[in-house]
Amino acid sequence: MLETLKQQVCDWNRALPRYNLVVWTSGNVSARDPQTGLIVIKPSGIEFDDLRPEQQVVVDVDGNVVEGLLKPSSDTLSHCYIYRQRPDVFGISHTHSNYATAFAAVGKPIPCVLTAMGDEFGGAVPCAGFALIGSEAIGQQVVEHIGNSPAVLLQRHGVFTVGKSGKDALKAAVMVEDIAKTVWLAMQLGTPEPIPAEDVAKLNFRYQNIYGQ
Ligand code: 13P
Repeated sequence: MLETLKQQVCDWNRALPRYNLVVWTSGNVSARDPQTGLIVIKPSGIEFDDLRPEQQVVVDVDGNVVEGLLKPSSDTLSHCYIYRQRPDVFGISHTHSNYATAFAAVGKPIPCVLTAMGDEFGGAVPCAGFALIGSEAIGQQVVEHIGNSPAVLLQRHGVFTVGKSGKDALKAAVMVEDIAKTVWLAMQLGTPEPIPAEDVAKLNFRYQNIYGQ
């Protein structure tokens, strides 16, 4: 079932190491099928080079396996919690990308000091609290702290992103690491100044409504 979405979810997962967002088997991407409401997610602990479309696991919105021979990602219950709370979300990614996770390690949000952050995130990237892996506790932290941003840091853990598709969630994961790296470099030179809120709102409006084709 859901062969096209399984292929896409496999591709989006395999993109994580390509963009240097994860190493070995850490991280995961899922997507929700708009027709059935079912979720396709990475199987747990499989190396990305070995990941195949048919290995992707289909679960319902409560995390029960509907189809798949392998165990689903250890973050499945958290992905499902986010999908239940956020009907607008159809894709989720989780990474341990280094620069963003460095902010998470010290429990600091990434301040909005770059136009690219106004564009993509509409403000600072918030930092949620600490939660253990395996239950929906991480999902609760994500929903509580993400606000209108497509990305949130998880204290002492990593990054979760959401989007209208798995590809959008993947894009947010790439962008959050890019800006985290630049902000970290800027912090070695001085104290970057936040962009005023009214300019952030203008940047975000232009990028979301006018930018591109
Ligand atoms: P899975 O391989 O089970 O998805 O675990 C990766 C991970 O990063 C858990 O937080």
